[in-house]
Amino acid sequence: MVDGLGAPLAAPLFDRVALIGIGLIGSSLARVIRRKKLARVLVAGDASATVRAKVTELGLADTVAETAAQAVADADLVILCVPVGAMAAVAQEIAPHLKPGAIVSDVGSVKSAVLAALTKHLPPHVAIIPAHPVAGTEESGPAAGFATLFVNRWCILTPPDGADAKAVKRLAEFWAAAGANIEIMTPQHHDLVLSITSHLPHLIAYNIVGTAADLEAITQSEVIKFSAGGFRDFTRIAASDPTMWRDVFLNNKEAVLETLGRFTEDLTALQRMIRNGDGEGLFNLFTRTRAIRRGIIEEGQEIAAPDFGRHRDDEA
Ligand code: NAP
Repeated sequence: MVDGLGAPLAAPLFDRVALIGIGLIGSSLARVIRRKKLARVLVAGDASATVRAKVTELGLADTVAETAAQAVADADLVILCVPVGAMAAVAQEIAPHLKPGAIVSDVGSVKSAVLAALTKHLPPHVAIIPAHPVAGTEESGPAAGFATLFVNRWCILTPPDGADAKAVKRLAEFWAAAGANIEIMTPQHHDLVLSITSHLPHLIAYNIVGTAADLEAITQSEVIKFSAGGFRDFTRIAASDPTMWRDVFLNNKEAVLETLGRFTEDLTALQRMIRNGDGEGLFNLFTRTRAIRRGIIEEGQEIAAPDFGRHRDDEA
């Protein structure tokens, strides 16, 4: 197939997979699981009755369970796709209903806090293997997902010390079949890396769009009218889900504050260059940053098109 997903598997990787939280990520996983036949049976659970009705209407799963506890019964692989702040409550709810030997994973954007929450609530007879697909859009909900979301994107697995190597391998195979490239690292390192590549850029976007909204000397209509000057690209990021991002910042506090401190120092240095008329300093920095974008495009993690390549290129 031309979209990078390839043909369905000859035999499913898991007998029964349960997804809890069928938003952008959960519904994209549901779509790829069905399309690639990664599970014999796919069960979906979501706290919201509206979401459950939509999942049924879209035909995203074999069964739509009323509760997370019902959804995980007898599942070999359970993936929590809820906001980071909801992971502990869901783990607590499903704990008594998990099949011994099941793999329990998640897709949360923060890993240390999620690992701690899962370890606290889940029984020792399951394998906890947290994961984070570094792929997404600014949209939410089951209608926003698409099967190719994870193609050629990284999925970072953060198994705890002493994790069952076979379970890690099976989960890696699952994400690879969904089109992702796999990387394994500690939860702490994940949180530090993502604080600079994802969390801080979102914070900056939220801040700049907020600042523009509060400026008294420039009207809202001028901000919108002249947005193509750079502002528009920040507004895409700043339109991301408020619940998800509130939870990211509350749960990756230390790493974000550390990178934010460094960012503030560098911003002050830029301020000084502008004040001192240091054109060479500005030019050198802008030349270095341009090379970073070229590197990202060369690695296939971005395309040069002005829409940032984030159009939906498939449906189901
Ligand atoms: P989303 O579209 O808002 O979907 C989350 C879903 O979980 C919603 O349907 C929500 O229902 C449901 N939910 C919330 N609390 C629940 C609970 N206690 N039990 C069961 N269902 C619950 O969010 P998303 O973008 O898919 O993000 C899901 C996870 O993926 C987050 O942990 C996020 O950090 C991670 N992630 C996101 C991206 C991205 O770009 N969006 C990328 C990588 C990873 P309600 O809407 O009714 O609350």
